[in-house]
Amino acid sequence: MLKNVNLNSKEDKTSQDCVFRYRLDLESEKTPIFHHRLSELVRTVLKSLLDVIVPLKVGEDVKVDGFRWLMGREQVHQLFSQTGSSSVSSASDFAKEEHSLSSKASGPNITFQSIANAAFYEPRIDLIKRLAESLLTLIEFGYEGEPVKVDSFRLQNLQDWLVASAGDPSEIFEYAGSHCSCDCIFCCNRGNPPSVATSSNLSRTPDEEFAEIKTRIKYFSPEAEKALFPGLGCVYETTTYPYFMDMLLLLRKKTSKPFRITTNGTNLTPEMIANLAELKPIYLYLSLNSSSPTRRQRLMRDNSPEIAINSLPLLKEQGIPYAVVIVPWPADTMSEMLDDLSSTVAYAVNQEAHLIQVNLPGYSKHFSSVELFDLDQVWKEVIAKVRELREKYDCPIVAMPTLYEENTYHRRKNLPQVIGLVKNSPGYLGGLKRGDVIKQINGIPVRDRPQARDLLALVQRSGAKEASVKVQRGRQTFELNLNLARYSYPYSEDIDIYLGIIFTGTGLRMSYIETLKEVIEARQAKQVLFLSSELIKPTFEQCLTESRLFVDGQLKIDIEVPKNNFFGGNIFMGDLLVVQDFIDYIKGYIIRKGRKPDLVVIPSSPFNLSGWGRDLTGRVYLDIERETGVPVELLPCATIYD
Ligand code: SF4
Repeated sequence: MLKNVNLNSKEDKTSQDCVFRYRLDLESEKTPIFHHRLSELVRTVLKSLLDVIVPLKVGEDVKVDGFRWLMGREQVHQLFSQTGSSSVSSASDFAKEEHSLSSKASGPNITFQSIANAAFYEPRIDLIKRLAESLLTLIEFGYEGEPVKVDSFRLQNLQDWLVASAGDPSEIFEYAGSHCSCDCIFCCNRGNPPSVATSSNLSRTPDEEFAEIKTRIKYFSPEAEKALFPGLGCVYETTTYPYFMDMLLLLRKKTSKPFRITTNGTNLTPEMIANLAELKPIYLYLSLNSSSPTRRQRLMRDNSPEIAINSLPLLKEQGIPYAVVIVPWPADTMSEMLDDLSSTVAYAVNQEAHLIQVNLPGYSKHFSSVELFDLDQVWKEVIAKVRELREKYDCPIVAMPTLYEENTYHRRKNLPQVIGLVKNSPGYLGGLKRGDVIKQINGIPVRDRPQARDLLALVQRSGAKEASVKVQRGRQTFELNLNLARYSYPYSEDIDIYLGIIFTGTGLRMSYIETLKEVIEARQAKQVLFLSSELIKPTFEQCLTESRLFVDGQLKIDIEVPKNNFFGGNIFMGDLLVVQDFIDYIKGYIIRKGRKPDLVVIPSSPFNLSGWGRDLTGRVYLDIERETGVPVELLPCATIYD
C-alpha cells in the first residue's frame, strides 16, 4: 500500500489530452533561394522531405539535389544553395523563431510546444509546419465562403504520433525536470551552446507540464514498446516538481519496471524516502559530490546539505539501492579535492552504496572562455586516486568516461576484466575478484567485453539458479560456480543486469568492423576516411587489426579525430561532435591531402539521440555530404554512455 502520498490528481480516463500545438511563423524574413513563390514552395517541400526520407529506385538510395517542372523542363532548380547555408535549419534558427514568436500576442490560455524540440525528435512536424507556411504565402484557407486566418496548428490524433520506445519510465518522468533546487558551480547545463536543440525548454506552469505528463503516461505502453514522440529539453531535478509523487504513482500503475531517478538529494527527506520505498523497484543516482556539508554547500549552493548527506543511511534502511555520483571539480587545491573525494567515497562505502560513479570534470567554451584547469592533469590524478581507493574498498568505483582509464592504464583494450563487484551480488558472493578476466560463461568462450556483458545479461534474464564463470586471475585460470538465488542489498535483481559484475565500460563490438567492411564494399571505396574520437580510436584500431578483414592491401583507411569546435573548451567526446565540426574537418583534410577520399564513414552515435540522423543542433547528417561533396555513410553503432 502507498502511504503518505498526496494524490490530489486522480487519473481521469475521460480527461482531454494535452494539446500538442505549434506556431506557424508567417512573418519572419526567411531568405528564399527562388523569388518565384511556386518554385520556392516546391523547393521548401522537397528539401524538408529530403531531411526526413531517403528516395529509392529499385530498392537503392537515390541522391537528389534539384528538380524541374514537367512543363519547361530545360530549367533546373537547385534544392540547396551553393554554400549549403540555406539548407541548414538548425535549432538556433528555431530558437530565434521561438523567441520572436513568443513576443507576439497569443490567447491568454494558449500554450505551444517547442518546434525546436519537435524538429529534433519528430521532424515530420517541422515538415508540416514548413509546408503550411509555404502554402500560406500562396493561398488562404476558407470556411463557408469566408477567409480564415490561421497562426498555428495542432496534432489531431496522438495515436498517429506514437514511436518505438524502450519502455523505460524515465522517458516520462524526466519531463518533470524543468527546474533545479541547486546551482552547482560545474552544472553542465550552463555550458550548453544556445543552439543545442535539447536546451530549448519553454517556460510553463507545473499544471501545464503535468497536463503533458499525464497525456504522455496515457500513451506510454511499456509492453508494446510505444510512446508519444519525445520532446525533451534539458533535464534538471525531478524531485522538486510539485507533482513528482503523483506522476510516479500514475506510472507505477502502468509498469513494474524500475524507476531510475537522478537526483541532487535536496528533497530526500525521511518522508520522501518512505514514499519512494512504496514504489519499488527504485534506483537513485544521487549527486552527492561531497559528504562534507561545507563543501557540498559551496559546490552545489545547497543551503541544506545535511538532507542529501543524511539520506544515505535512510535509503539503506528502506532497501533502496543507489549510486553515489561525484564530480571532482578542482574548486580549490588538487589535494583538498582529492582528500574530499577519498572521504566521500569512504562515507558512501560505509553506507553500502551500490556503486560509486566519479564523473571526470570538463567544460565547454560557453561555460568558460578561459582555461579553468589542466584537464589531463586533473583526470590523471583523479584516476590514480580512484585506483588507490578501489584497492581499499569493496564497493565498485567507476570513473566516467571509462575509456580514459582503459587507454591510460591498459595496453590491451576491450578485455572482459572485472573492475568491481556490487556487494552481496551473486558475482561478489561467488568469489569473483576485481582484476579477474572472464574467459568463459556457462562453457561459452568469451572474446571481448560486449560479448561478456551480453552473455551475463542473458544468464540473468533466463531465471537460471546458477551459472559457471571461468576466470583468469594472474597466472591461474579456474572456474567459479555462482548461486544466482543468493544475494542481498545493495544488489537487486530488478536493477542489476550482469550478476553484479562491473566492467570498464561497454566496449566495442567486433560486429561494427564487419558492418564497416560491408559499407565500404557497397560503395566500392578504396580511400576511406573514418572519423573516430580520441577515446574510442585506440580500441577501434585494435579491433580493426584483430578482425583481419582489411588485410588485402587494396584499401586505405585513414582514422582521424575531428576537433570539437562547436562545444569548445576541453570537450573532446565524439558523441558531442556536430555536423559543422565534421564539415570543417573534412574540408581541412581535403586541403591537407590534396585529394578527396572516396568515402567518409562516421559512427552513428553523434546522431543517435533523436533517431532522425540529427546532431545536437538539430541539423541532419546529410548536410555533411551536401557541403563537402564527399559521399558519407553512418556506421550504425550504439551510443557509449560510459
Ligand atoms: S544538481 Fe544537476 S542540474 Fe542541478 S545545478 Fe547541479 S548539476 Fe545542474
